[in-house]
Amino acid sequence: MTTYRVEPGRRVELDAWDPGDRSWFEDGKKKGVRELSELRERLDELQALLYAEHRHKVLVVLQAMDAGGKDGTIRSVFDGVNPQGVKVTSFKVPTPLELDHDYLWRVHRHTPGRGEVAIFNRSHYEDVLVTRVHGLVDEAVCRRRYAHINDFERLLAEEGTTILKFFLHIDLDEQKERLQERLDDPRKRWKFRQGDVEERKLWGDYMRAYEDAISATSTEWAPWHIVPANHNWYRNLYVVRTLVDALEALDMRYPDPEEGWEDAVIE
Ligand code: ADP
Repeated sequence: MTTYRVEPGRRVELDAWDPGDRSWFEDGKKKGVRELSELRERLDELQALLYAEHRHKVLVVLQAMDAGGKDGTIRSVFDGVNPQGVKVTSFKVPTPLELDHDYLWRVHRHTPGRGEVAIFNRSHYEDVLVTRVHGLVDEAVCRRRYAHINDFERLLAEEGTTILKFFLHIDLDEQKERLQERLDDPRKRWKFRQGDVEERKLWGDYMRAYEDAISATSTEWAPWHIVPANHNWYRNLYVVRTLVDALEALDMRYPDPEEGWEDAVIE
């Protein structure tokens, strides 16, 4: 069976990962969309259980090139899930205060508490991606950081956090179309940044930075998934399925009711 999970220790060459692949779900878009909505309902139930049980923590990391679909994935996958107990953090260019600290300082406080799902829209990985591409850190610093990141994520995992990391993989043509759409559609125009056009020119450098980062940080406790993301429905289906499977594996139970509940009389 096709899987997009990166086995720990495997060297990733992104050219070999087709952003338009659909072989993991062979029944086509119509059935895929139906399955997506069923899985969303299941996710809603599992999230309610996670919240009630108040034991496990779940961290979802989303990384992608510009217009790669991070926002759309969050909107689609968590559509219908009770917002209580789910929090999204979008990591932007660090503030001066954040830059005065180590790069994980701003991240740790947004990690999930018991019963919570935390979604990172961009993450600590920016510190080995955009910074690397722009020469703010060199390869040696990145190698050190991969080790910090693995240790940091292991700390979270050993303290009860399930970590799922998704790289939403689109290709250059798809990005072009999506950026053009941002210009063409008045409702999307606010999202357009001239900077995105400049970053696009550095595509190859970004791919190398992603390959190195993903290869070094896909671990048993925090694996990466390289999700073919040219097709939105397919991307969403894979992410929600992976989340549902991970939550099912936690084998959660609703807490016991308060003692004496059988005798309670509601007047
Ligand atoms: P998004 O593209 O995620 O929807 P923005 O358009 O506001 O949101 O872009 C956020 C920007 O912040 C991106 O260009 C990203 O590379 C940058 N950024 C995030 N984290 C860091 C970091 N640690 N160092 C430098 N730049 C960062």
